[in-house]
Amino acid sequence: MAIILDGKMIRDQILAELKPRVAAFARAPQLVVILVGDNPASQVYVKNKIAACEVLGIRSQKLSPAVSITTEQLLATVNQLNADPEVHGILVQLPLPPQVDAMRVLEAVAPGKDVDGFHPVNAGKLLSGAPGLRPCTPSGVMELLRRYDIPIEGRKAVVVGRSEIVGKPMAILLLQANATVTICHSRTSNLAEECRRADILVAAIGRAEYLGEEHIQPGAVVIDVGMNRVNGRLTGDVDPVEMARLSSAYTPVPGGVGPLTIAMLMSNTVRAAEQAQ
Ligand code: NDP
Repeated sequence: MAIILDGKMIRDQILAELKPRVAAFARAPQLVVILVGDNPASQVYVKNKIAACEVLGIRSQKLSPAVSITTEQLLATVNQLNADPEVHGILVQLPLPPQVDAMRVLEAVAPGKDVDGFHPVNAGKLLSGAPGLRPCTPSGVMELLRRYDIPIEGRKAVVVGRSEIVGKPMAILLLQANATVTICHSRTSNLAEECRRADILVAAIGRAEYLGEEHIQPGAVVIDVGMNRVNGRLTGDVDPVEMARLSSAYTPVPGGVGPLTIAMLMSNTVRAAEQAQ
């Protein structure tokens, strides 16, 4: 029987460990989330992030500029927040409207307040193994593997997906934990063969139930990062029936990686505030 890797339980552990660190501040850390426009999925994500702040006693603020905002106006907002010592974390919720140069905005966030870990300075620190704020989803996966005592060193890890926010940083973190890492993407020839080599298979593709029986080595640990809405239902990137049948342990969708992303956002916010002291 495969072990179900319970992201909610690990989230609760992480939040419980953060609570005394938040309480130790004379004035609680503050996270500011910038949500442009009214994308329904983004609204749910932001609501969940703010709810997690409330649980921990982290101060939070949501800024909701109009969907017509320009790059320059958004840069001015970010610069104001950068200069405000009361603000410890800045999160620009993606996607931004098409007229906004998202890269310029993300690069404007002060690296020390970049709680999403997307700034090139933090990406560079990740690559070189220097301390810095790490992207939340992949660092959440590492926490999950660590807390379930899943060995990484010397094992073959295959990451499907090479985005800047999930696939690439995931692969680097696994490499730093001494896995032998393969990164697959849309141009990989014979994806199934590559995936079947994996002791640890991470799916971060964005295609509902795309990986199935032919991709999973029996006994592998399968981490399903995917969050796809199909007819209003949330599904992962891996066929849940085959994942449960073939793997030795797996993350369900929902209830696997999703909760960890928010926990690591809280962790990054507390860290950013501690480092600002
Ligand atoms: P992106 O769309 O940015 O990247 C998807 C990656 O998958 C790309 O590298 C792409 O390859 C690769 N890919 C697409 N199709 C195939 C294919 N047929 N075969 C192999 N590789 C393929 O997505 P994200 O990385 O942002 O997100 C991935 C998934 O994770 C999504 O479902 C997203 O919703 C979810 N997600 C979940 C989070 C959570 O908290 N649980 C947080 C963030 C994301 P190429 O580069 O060649 O185009």
